Amino acid sequence: MSEPLTFFEQVNRNFDKAAAFTSHPPGILEQIKQINSVIHFVFPIKRDDGSVAVMHGWRAEHSHHKLPTKGGIRYAMTVNEDEVMALAALMTYKCAIVNVPFGGATGGVRIAAHEYSESELERITRRFTFELFTKNFIGPGLDVPAPDFGTGQREMAWIADTYATLAPHDINAAGCVTAKPVSEGGIEGRAEATGRGVFYALREVCSIAEDMRAIGLTAGLEGKRVVVQGLGNVGYHTAKFLQEDGGALIVGAAEHEGAIAKRGGIDVEALMAHRLATGSILGFEGATDLASRDLGLEVDCDILIPAALENAITMDNAPRIKAKIIAEAANGPVSSTASEAFFERGVLVLPDTYVNAGGVTVSYFEWLKNLEHVQFGRLEKRFDEQSARRLLTAIEHATGRGFSDQEISSIARGAEEIDLVNSGLEETMIEAYHTVREIFKRGGGAYDLRAASMIGAIDKVALAYKDRGIFP
Ligand code: GLU
Repeated sequence: MSEPLTFFEQVNRNFDKAAAFTSHPPGILEQIKQINSVIHFVFPIKRDDGSVAVMHGWRAEHSHHKLPTKGGIRYAMTVNEDEVMALAALMTYKCAIVNVPFGGATGGVRIAAHEYSESELERITRRFTFELFTKNFIGPGLDVPAPDFGTGQREMAWIADTYATLAPHDINAAGCVTAKPVSEGGIEGRAEATGRGVFYALREVCSIAEDMRAIGLTAGLEGKRVVVQGLGNVGYHTAKFLQEDGGALIVGAAEHEGAIAKRGGIDVEALMAHRLATGSILGFEGATDLASRDLGLEVDCDILIPAALENAITMDNAPRIKAKIIAEAANGPVSSTASEAFFERGVLVLPDTYVNAGGVTVSYFEWLKNLEHVQFGRLEKRFDEQSARRLLTAIEHATGRGFSDQEISSIARGAEEIDLVNSGLEETMIEAYHTVREIFKRGGGAYDLRAASMIGAIDKVALAYKDRGIFP
């Protein structure tokens, strides 16, 4: 039984279920739910062998209640209008939950990126940017792309360069796209931000003893058994932080080529090195190769992290999943009906719109940096350092206690960009969880965390319309 609803239909099903617990007028709810603009581009590119390939690309802007709109650009064979619309809608709700003042958007090109050379991908990306530009679908105040599945810093640098060429008088041109290389106006910490955000989210969720008891787990991440599906940018960083900073055990991993399990825990860096050397996660020392990649999701664990694409978990495999917590590091990995089944079974599903919002949060910081034209921490770093030193000297004089050089340098340290980014991200993920949890508690068991985060998001977007007088 494959998933009967399209991805966008599932997002809207989740929306409708949550909306029923709000009191907003139906017209406002309908306005929030609809895609405001969507465009389909068809353009040719010349391949390295001289032939012409016809590309299909899309960009959906889900909500203009705040501008710019924001969201990734995906290169995958799954890309179609329904997919970008679903992802764009998720972006609106995601931004609302973490208080990032953007509407949601997503775009993509239907290609298997690995079948194209680097120069072909550059031509595709530059031409796609040109299409976005000429149709008013890109700009620092309009619509700001970022990476998604199949794209990364390299593509973002091409987008930024193409936009800057087309808009030479736009002093804020660097803010037309985020997750750029740091040398091109990017911000420290963006590459790992989504994974780091998933880690902060899980650490917070697992720190609440009462909630953990309710699902038969002890508090804390230490020793929790984790399975990660997808070792791309998000899955890899999530696994790395959970292992290195959280003390969790990565007991299973799944990728295109297959899945592995190791009860004692897989060393993430060693697994990545093994994959780089052999082209596969299979055959990793001390781990068992599973019969199929899908079995990776069914490995016995406490926390399952689907970090690849949508619909990885549907009613087909949900009954066999043993995890107590599922953290949606990908967008839409658990189908709407499977999510309901987990709620009935008492499995805690941490929804994508909250748990993977670290990426767009740090994109927001990058955009602010681009508009301010200055690196965070540049003005105050040394001043803060010197103030702390003066304070320590005053304490030394008053108490007669001397501080060691090591104490002084650790206490009197001005924040650098990466410190500020990580601090802002940590605060955002913790704060947002408590907001969502509050709404969830208010429901008294009537709805799950996905609905709770959706209710929070709907309330915020509705407020934007109310404040501008669209309410009756
Ligand atoms: N693909 C990212 C996401 O789904 C993009 C977020 C951004 O705009 O930084 O969250």
